Amino acid sequence: MDPGEFCVVCGRTGRPLTDGVCADCDADRTVLLTAPERGEVVVCSGCGSRRVGGRWERAGSPLVPTEEDLTPFLNVHPEAGLRSVRWEERSATATVRELLAHATVRFRGVERTVDVPFSVRTVTQSCPDCSRRSGRYYTAVVQLRGPADGRSERPRELRARLDRLWSGVLGEARPDVRGAVSWREERPEGWDCYLVETVAARQLARIAKQRFGATLKESATLAGRKDGHDVYRVTVCVRFPAGPGPSRPRDAA
Ligand SMILES: [Zn+2]
Ligand SMILES: [Zn+2]
Repeated sequence: MDPGEFCVVCGRTGRPLTDGVCADCDADRTVLLTAPERGEVVVCSGCGSRRVGGRWERAGSPLVPTEEDLTPFLNVHPEAGLRSVRWEERSATATVRELLAHATVRFRGVERTVDVPFSVRTVTQSCPDCSRRSGRYYTAVVQLRGPADGRSERPRELRARLDRLWSGVLGEARPDVRGAVSWREERPEGWDCYLVETVAARQLARIAKQRFGATLKESATLAGRKDGHDVYRVTVCVRFPAGPGPSRPRDAA
């Protein structure tokens, strides 16, 4: 390093420079850590497991969000490393906690502490296992099926294909709509997905129609009476079009 070179920001000499700026000054003017305004953690109130993407994991976790839930929401500058985070709770309601992340971040050899506000909403649901155990509460069923004309697609392959399509549908849905899906069961002709919100079932079916070309058929069955009203369960049969590529010959082993 040329001993005469100085940081263009602070003027100090004798320090490694990047684009004329020393590491201290660079760290001061770089956004090292951010968080979205609000995040959501979906917790099973029965067993404490978390819904991450399409699956449930970490059964036995506390019902309130922990570091393990919170830290993944933080976005660290690609050239920085997150050394430690301490979460301070500033206020909390039954479902929303306002937090402050006190983070230590390392960047170009210097450490900085950064405070980032973050608010997390806890959504409680019943995971598929707990739903089954607790008597299978649901209000709607979305049936995932192949084309009605019965192309020769083996049940196993059909279910794998429907599974991918359903993941695509869920990926396009809002988190609260996704969250209404409780559990699903395998059928020879596809999958039956059980939901705790009828509105969510219809929205998912609509996404399947609009984005994936599925056809829909809705029916209702009387499930009983509650508070003097008939209670219906809605079933939406979602038929996806035939998959791409050649179908297997019917007589292939
Ligand atoms: Zn400097
Ligand atoms: Zn559970």
